[in-house]
Amino acid sequence: MALKILINGGKGRMGHAVADAAKAMGMTVVGSVDVGDDIATPLAQCDAAVDFSSHLATKFLLDLAVAQRKPVVLGTTGHSAEEKKKLLALAAQIPCVWAGNFSVGVNLLFALTRRASAILGSDYDAEVIEMHHRFKKDAPSGTAARLLEIILEERKLDARALRHGRAGITGERTSSEVGIHSLRGGDVVGDHTVMFAALGERLELTHKASDRGIFARGALRAAQWVVSQPPGVYDMQHVLGLQ
Ligand code: NAD
Repeated sequence: MALKILINGGKGRMGHAVADAAKAMGMTVVGSVDVGDDIATPLAQCDAAVDFSSHLATKFLLDLAVAQRKPVVLGTTGHSAEEKKKLLALAAQIPCVWAGNFSVGVNLLFALTRRASAILGSDYDAEVIEMHHRFKKDAPSGTAARLLEIILEERKLDARALRHGRAGITGERTSSEVGIHSLRGGDVVGDHTVMFAALGERLELTHKASDRGIFARGALRAAQWVVSQPPGVYDMQHVLGLQ
């Protein structure tokens, strides 16, 4: 039977991409809702909800999904750490895939970044550079935030090590800092580079997205997967078996 999905944030760039991908993948869109629309009714008719809207909408959607015991695929980014902690407790009551990036290539980049961080160690200065279109509302991107988390985990550092851009007399770079630089402009769908620079060599891992369809197809693959999972919060690494 064709999977029935509800799209939250349906009028947005990703909402449209998910609708197109669902059609191509033979799924049925039972509802596509946006700001102010009734979500409860189409939610009751779907197998899973796919959300690419605003971080301000996540709690409302999760409350409804928990009440109706509906699986959710969450793609929205921009939550503060505090906000995310509360939402995770809610999301854990239903089957939920929550990923800052649903592309298969980026999920491999996560795995490669972990491996490179572990092998290269702190002799190699780690910096993350991301670029997105001029309309993006949050920075750094959810994907960059995940890349940073991975580097911090491998280096046993915490968020105090992060340097969001640099300006003025910063002093020499220390080995216990990790830089993050967000570029915005034009219609760039999403570029991410993780750079490991040492004295004498530099390794750069780069992913470039040129079509939002990759996120939409990944999110729908996650929806297909999550409907047969027990309650819990999963990410794309689980869906792809990269854990
Ligand atoms: P967009 O601004 O084009 O679309 C967002 C849509 O959500 C708009 O139509 C807006 O009206 C709607 N919306 C806002 N508040 C809402 C609410 N309370 N209820 C329902 N709808 C609401 O943005 P976009 O480029 O489509 O991106 C949407 C989100 O998805 C962003 O957070 C973005 O960073 C994220 N994103 C994630 C991935 C991923 O792979 N996880 C990929 C691309 C974008």
